[in-house]
Amino acid sequence: MPRPIEALVHRAALAHNLARARAAAPAARLWAVVKANAYGHGIERVYAALAGADGFALLDLAEAERVRALGWRGPVLLLEGAFEPRDLELCSRLGLWHAVHCAEQIDWLAAHKTHAPHHVFLKMNSGMNRLGFRPESYRAAWARLDALPQVGEIGLMTHFSDADGERGIAHQVRIFDEATRDLPGERSVANSATILRHHGGTGVSVVGEGGIRVASDWVRAGILGYGSAPDFPEHSAAGWQLQPAMTLRTRLIATQSLQPGDTVGYGSSFTAARPMRIGIAACGYADGYPRHAGTGTPVLVDGVRTGTVGRVSMDMLAVDLTAAPAAGIGSEVTLWGRGPRETILSIDEVAHAAATIGYELMCALAARVTVRAVE
Ligand SMILES: *Cc1c(COP(=O)(O)O)cnc(C)c1O
Repeated sequence: MPRPIEALVHRAALAHNLARARAAAPAARLWAVVKANAYGHGIERVYAALAGADGFALLDLAEAERVRALGWRGPVLLLEGAFEPRDLELCSRLGLWHAVHCAEQIDWLAAHKTHAPHHVFLKMNSGMNRLGFRPESYRAAWARLDALPQVGEIGLMTHFSDADGERGIAHQVRIFDEATRDLPGERSVANSATILRHHGGTGVSVVGEGGIRVASDWVRAGILGYGSAPDFPEHSAAGWQLQPAMTLRTRLIATQSLQPGDTVGYGSSFTAARPMRIGIAACGYADGYPRHAGTGTPVLVDGVRTGTVGRVSMDMLAVDLTAAPAAGIGSEVTLWGRGPRETILSIDEVAHAAATIGYELMCALAARVTVRAVE
């Protein structure tokens, strides 16, 4: 028998979450962001459930090929554009749209031979200082692109650094709006946090009650599609009406009865203060479970909420069975996602306990874990 750990990808949850993005930005077209192998879920596993989107956004060219191989004929956007000149050949061949974020990418386009003009999104660095043209050089870049026979449509895009947090997006929206005011082209500015927290229904950005409401022609839904809240713990996934798209579960392979003073695991970081039973679950950091999750990280045993005990090791972790006295070898352990009897443990809670975010945990699911898509 293989180790009992497995991950499930919930197709109905993906479709539900996508509908949630639609409801939050009803006038916009929707990119389903499937970079990093669909945030660890597997592009092939999520494809059918997300095919109600208007396009797929990602950044790895091999992943773009996989989306085309699945039969997708609609828009595919490379969020970081070409990494070298010959990437443009694949863009031409597969009809990929691509971001243009630096002068070199324009040079490559100018030297590129293509029959079909490329659909590009010109990226502005409106304050995040990662990718894009600064506002003062944005128009010149736009004009250069507009003059190229290799370029057809030019969309306008930027990315917000604080859509999930206190600083918000107003400062960047102001910069983007001002620098693009009379430029034609579709706008794309909203990631998940912007869609959920800052999106308005109309075609213009407005400052209204409760802060700025941004509008974009294309929104880019990543994490929300996978059922994790971009702004946890301020909001939970359930609070945003999102459903977990991934479950990581395993079983207990041993139990131990501890006496006061007994310690658990490497480094003896946990010492029992009273007699207690613990279970040993077949899941460790080599499966993608975060090693930095300390004692008390939430976990479900047979659907009952309890916590981890001691350090996470490579293949195992220990859980407190005080709240689940009937549990024993073979009991189901939910690390995150859906447990028995409609129980849910949000990946965001586990991530928070390990000082990280749901994004990182889902992307870090290890290759040795078998993944199954279910309804
Ligand atoms: C990853 C990414 C997104 C999606 O972000 P989420 O927070 O997961 O919604 C949107 N836009 C760009 C440019 C990205 O790189």
